[in-house]
Amino acid sequence: MLTGVGPRLVEKLSKLGLNTIEDGLYHLPFRYEDRRQLTPIARLSTSRQGVFYGEVLAAGETHTSRKRTRIFEVIVGDQSGQISLKWFRYRKGWLQKRFPLGQKAIFIGEVRSFGLMREVHHPDAELLTQHVSLDQLAHSDPLNFGRILPVYSLTEGISQKQMRKIWFALVDQFAHDITDPLPQEILQRNKLWSLSRAIRACHWPDNDQSLHDIEKGSDCGRRSVVFDEFFYLQLGLALKRQGVEVEQGIAFNVTHRYTIPLNKILPYQLTDAQRRVLGEIKQDMMSPHPMNRLLQGDVGSGKTLVALMAALIAIENGKQVAMVAPTEILAEQHARFFTDWLEKLGLNTVLLKSGLSVREKKERLGRIACGSAHLVVGTHAVLQKGVEFHALGLGIIDEQHRFGVRQRAVLKQKGESPDILVMTATPIPRTLSLTLYGDLSVSVIDQLPPGRKPVKTELYQYSKSLDAYRVLGSEIDNGRQAYVVFPLVEESEKSDLQAATEAADRLAADILPQARIGLLHGRMKTVDKDRMMNAFRSGDLDVLVATTVIEVGVDVPNATVMLIEHADRFGLAQLHQLRGRVGRGSDKSYCLLVPSSSYSEDAAKRLQVMVETSDGFRIAEADLNIRGPGDFLGTRQSGLPELKVASLLRDGVTLDLARREAFAYALKTNYLQDPASEPVRNELLRRWAGRLELASIA
Ligand code: ADP
Ligand code: MG
Repeated sequence: MLTGVGPRLVEKLSKLGLNTIEDGLYHLPFRYEDRRQLTPIARLSTSRQGVFYGEVLAAGETHTSRKRTRIFEVIVGDQSGQISLKWFRYRKGWLQKRFPLGQKAIFIGEVRSFGLMREVHHPDAELLTQHVSLDQLAHSDPLNFGRILPVYSLTEGISQKQMRKIWFALVDQFAHDITDPLPQEILQRNKLWSLSRAIRACHWPDNDQSLHDIEKGSDCGRRSVVFDEFFYLQLGLALKRQGVEVEQGIAFNVTHRYTIPLNKILPYQLTDAQRRVLGEIKQDMMSPHPMNRLLQGDVGSGKTLVALMAALIAIENGKQVAMVAPTEILAEQHARFFTDWLEKLGLNTVLLKSGLSVREKKERLGRIACGSAHLVVGTHAVLQKGVEFHALGLGIIDEQHRFGVRQRAVLKQKGESPDILVMTATPIPRTLSLTLYGDLSVSVIDQLPPGRKPVKTELYQYSKSLDAYRVLGSEIDNGRQAYVVFPLVEESEKSDLQAATEAADRLAADILPQARIGLLHGRMKTVDKDRMMNAFRSGDLDVLVATTVIEVGVDVPNATVMLIEHADRFGLAQLHQLRGRVGRGSDKSYCLLVPSSSYSEDAAKRLQVMVETSDGFRIAEADLNIRGPGDFLGTRQSGLPELKVASLLRDGVTLDLARREAFAYALKTNYLQDPASEPVRNELLRRWAGRLELASIA
């Protein structure tokens, strides 16, 4: 145990989540202070942390001129100049006692400029009994002066100085015990330090290190720790992936029996991106191992058509295909799309959904079990127990982010090692997909079909919402259709329904008396939802007022307006999805954002991003920036080891390096079968702590 750390301190530290020595070593400073030298007051630059010596020339309470709040001000000076120190929250007696005239001290704080005067708010101060040089100070108090200092996050009852003292001892005593079996050549190739040296440097950087690098987190110490974390993460993923690669699967033949005829009757050509992605999928399907592929493509990029092509390859080989979608509306839409094309090729589609009569259900299950259904589309219903396939060869999951890893596994079990294709329109920043879906191969459709016009996105403040409805009205007058969307309100489900109902009534009564308006919400029966959706699709309705049930995948090309009420309550990914419902035809389209009467700063940022860009990947990066990676897409439930230091936001470059090295290492050691790799293997098991299935590392 660490000397000087008693039970009371242990309790306080455990509030920071620090229970073991290892926790402590990984509890890195969240920033640093440069106390290598003192700066003369005249040379302090603004907006930066300054460390300077000064003598108190005046001290006392004053008032700010305009706001009439009280402040405590201390003027200090050295031979070069003067600066003002200000406190806005303080105990007067304590400050008066601390800063009598003539008191000498070292001050630390961010220097601001206020007109011609520079000032520091709430500085740290180190009182001196006499004027000592920094060298002397560094000598007498080496943990607080004369170096780059760590600043740790604290908990109540521990001061920064105390923390530094404990952590110095901790690092001093234990850092050299850290052993990490990472091969030397990998460290050398990537110019990295051993974990032990790196951890030490993160806590107590050497004075000759670049402060700029340290502040950016790109110094060798931190980079080494981050690399180390990513390496074991990626190595685990490499093994998971290999587990799939050694598994026997179906080696499909591409005979073109159905794909070429389909190409002939399609009214358009595949985009280059669709063609490329389809090539990647074909490769996987032809290989003797099961495919495990993620197909990413922005909303409207044409993933369904690629899925259809892949389905035809499976069907050409006498296998069945299952396609799972997250909502009934979407499953219906897919069923319509697949039936249309498969019928023309003499093939059968079956739709599975809730609410079928017993007889209907039995009949459909029978066709699936005997193999006369070539393709089965449905919601979760497809994954249920009684659904048995004659010969499932390909499973497709649409809008993967709505499902978990478990559903993927269930689908796999419906056949004998079928190929799996998961699709998502939620753009995932590359760094994140490498971690989240590191065991999947990824294909990206990075191109929209030709002729799409970008959607014009406009923000109408609450008080200007009538203007937004005016835009909507003029589109309706031109024969176009529009969506009006309301968020789910958390407190009670009733109120969003109420809001949507009221809005539909208000639209009908006041704003668009001539328009045909329909209402779609989550509490409707499936048949009613279908009826409403079909009426909209066929043009019998002009406006569809909806709660977010229309969020994913709906495709109605004549709809050119998406008006989103309370737009501040939606996440960026959702807003982007909703906007993707329009701009599907060749006409100009609008996304009109109407926020609540007041909204948070984060919401304002999200709305701004929506107005500025329609690039799904930029939106995803922005989302990651606003929300932080932990919160993104429920990464917490992803079953991956937690990252203690590495950040998916900052450390993309290091992640790439680590991934490449880890995958190469896995290959070189025959997936850790080589005896020489045993230490690495043990370390991997320790870090993943039960999260790796034994099968993948046997
Ligand atoms: P998503 O990727 O969002 O699922 P969809 O598959 O729904 O997109 O496709 C959006 C629309 O684009 C559909 O109406 C589809 O028929 C059309 N589409 C798909 N591929 C092409 C193409 N190559 N050329 C023209 N239109 C296409
Ligand atoms: Mg889709």
